[in-house]
Amino acid sequence: MKNLIIAVAVFITIASCNDTENNNNALNTDSKFEKIDSTEAIYNDEEYLEAKELQKKVPLFVTPDLETEAMKSPKSDVADDPAIWINPADAAKSTIIGTDKYDGLHVYDLDGKELFYYTIGKTNNVDVRYGFPLGNEKIDIVACSNRGYNGISLLKVNPADGSLEDIAARKLEIDTNIVDDIYGFCMYKSPKTKKYYVIANGKNGLVQQYELVATKNNKIDFKLVRELQIPSQPEGMVADDEKGILYVGEEAVGVWKFGAEPEDDKKGQLIFNAEDVDVAVPDIEGISLYYAEGGKGYLIVSSQGNFTYIIIDRETDKYITSFKITDSQIDGIEETDGLDVLNLPLGTKFPNGIFVAQDGFNHDNKKISNQNFKIVSWDKIAKMATPNLIIDNQYDFRK
Ligand code: CA
Ligand code: CA
Ligand code: CA
Ligand code: CA
Ligand code: CA
Repeated sequence: MKNLIIAVAVFITIASCNDTENNNNALNTDSKFEKIDSTEAIYNDEEYLEAKELQKKVPLFVTPDLETEAMKSPKSDVADDPAIWINPADAAKSTIIGTDKYDGLHVYDLDGKELFYYTIGKTNNVDVRYGFPLGNEKIDIVACSNRGYNGISLLKVNPADGSLEDIAARKLEIDTNIVDDIYGFCMYKSPKTKKYYVIANGKNGLVQQYELVATKNNKIDFKLVRELQIPSQPEGMVADDEKGILYVGEEAVGVWKFGAEPEDDKKGQLIFNAEDVDVAVPDIEGISLYYAEGGKGYLIVSSQGNFTYIIIDRETDKYITSFKITDSQIDGIEETDGLDVLNLPLGTKFPNGIFVAQDGFNHDNKKISNQNFKIVSWDKIAKMATPNLIIDNQYDFRK
C-alpha cells in the first residue's frame, strides 16, 4: 500500500511538471510577482493632483471607445506598453499585445477581451514586425525587452488565432556590464536592406541595435551591430521603416532622432525638447508613429507628467499640438507609459485605425482597479484638432 502511495505521488509530480512545461509553451519563465526596482512615477495624491491640474492647460480631448480587461497582477504599476498586430486574413481579428512588467505578455482581441497570457517574465516594451523570412515561411514577430534576464524575448505570431510561440534560438541576454538594466525597446525593418533589427536601451542611456538572423533549425538569433549613447535615461523608442529613422525618448528631456541603419551617424539630433513646449511635462514616455502617404504622418509621444500626448509632424519634426483622453462611459487615461497607433483599418469597428495607450489609473465605477489599456479610434483624434489631422487608412507601412 505504502509503495503504491509513493508510486502515485511520483506519478503526480511528473505529470504536473509536464503540465507546467506545456502551459508555458516552452517559453522562458521567471518567477511571478518578484519586486523590481522601478523609476516610474509612483502614485501619491499630491503628484496625481498636480498632474491633473497641469492637464487642464491642454484643451483638446477625446474619450476612449474601449478598454481591455484589467491586468490580474496584484501590483499598482503593472501594465506598460501595447503593440498592435494586424491579422492578415481578417483585420477585425487583429490583436493588442500588452506587457505586464511583473509577469509577461497579454494578448487581447479588439473587444478588449484577453485571449492569451504568457508568463515569460518582466516584459517592458513590446513591438511587432511583419514577414520575417524563416525557412519557407514568412512570419510576424512580436518582440519585447525582458527585465527578468536583462534580454529580449522573440515570439512568432500564429496567424490563425494570434497566439504567440517562442522563436528565440537561445536566451537572448544582454551584458549587464554594458546595458546596465534593459528598459526601452523597439523593432526596425530596413527599407534599404530588408534586414530586421531589435533595438534596446538601458537606464545608463546606452542603446544597442541587434540584427535578427535565422538559424539552421528555423529559430531566430541576434547579433550586435551598433551602439548609441543618450545623455540620460531613455525609454520609449520607435523606428520609421520607410524613412530609416530611429526616435529615442530621453525621459527627462525630449525626443532624439537618429539614422536607423547600423552604419548611420552615431550623432543624434534633439528634435523635441519638452522645455520648449509649455504643455509638455516629462517624463517623456511611449512613442509611436502614425504613417501616411508621401512621408506624412505623426509621431505621438506620452507626456507622462501632465497625463497628455504630444503630436509631432513626421515630415518637419515640428510640434503640432497636445491632447488628453478624458472620462466618458469608460474612464480616461492618466500617466501613460507605452502607446501605439495604427493608420490601417481594423474591420468595421475601427475603419480608420486606432490609438492604444496604457492607463496608469484604471477606474471602474469610480473605484481604482488594476491597470489596463484604452483604445480610441484614430478618426476621433484626427477630427479633434484644427486643422484636422490626416486620416489615411490606405498607406501600408508593411510593404
Ligand atoms: Ca519610464
Ligand atoms: Ca507607470
Ligand atoms: Ca510598443
Ligand atoms: Ca484612467
Ligand atoms: Ca476602466
